[in-house]
Amino acid sequence: MSMIENPAQTSLTGSAARLAHVRQTIAKAAQDIGRDATEITLVAVSKTFTADEIRPVIDAGQRVFGENRVQEAESKFPALKAVFPDIELHLIGPLQTNKLKQAAALFDVIESLDRPKLAEALAKERDRTGHCPRLFVQVNTGEEPQKAGILPLDAEAFVADCRDRLGLPVEGLMCIPPVEENPALHFALLRDMGRRLGLAGLSMGMSGDYPIAVGLGATHVRVGSAIFGSRAYPEPTAG
Ligand SMILES: *Cc1c(COP(=O)(O)O)cnc(C)c1O
Repeated sequence: MSMIENPAQTSLTGSAARLAHVRQTIAKAAQDIGRDATEITLVAVSKTFTADEIRPVIDAGQRVFGENRVQEAESKFPALKAVFPDIELHLIGPLQTNKLKQAAALFDVIESLDRPKLAEALAKERDRTGHCPRLFVQVNTGEEPQKAGILPLDAEAFVADCRDRLGLPVEGLMCIPPVEENPALHFALLRDMGRRLGLAGLSMGMSGDYPIAVGLGATHVRVGSAIFGSRAYPEPTAG
């Protein structure tokens, strides 16, 4: 027997190999409930990782990335986007209105639309530039006081205000379940809310639970450490 293994299996290492594994896991979870895996967008969460660490994942074919801080994304993605114009960048962390101009110019999708003041500011910026990123409304499904997001009871009115009065391009809902709870309950709540509000996009599921989210209808899963490895330094919470 040859000592040389199938090159198709040995050529992938590190983050590229983990990316392939995540893609397979998504495909399997989709197949299990009869969904088409192409309906599911993998958002590779690259926060805290450098452009050099992101590059092998791009080379492996990944194009959709998520970052949680405007300034950090500014330091990495304009250069990457210049080389790979088809990169799609998602903001998945809280957005301060003083960073909104920068964010609206850099991000293709803002998944953290979490308050009326931000909706107003996005509409104003859209009126000024004629451009608005695609938007997801972040819902605080666990009703956690320290967590960003619209409360479930307020979601319908907020989405209506964003879409009908402000004319914002709201495509879906996003949630981050409380760490101590069964995420499936929160994913199901978000799915039902999306159906009621006529929003097709559902961004839910992270490294620890994305197969469950796919089973409950996620159209976007946000996966960081399962692709890039564990984050080496603590994440700042905002900005
Ligand atoms: C960091 C982060 C993720 C990815 O988390 P992992 O557990 O590393 O997959 C997903 N969503 C949001 C909002 C995040 O901040």
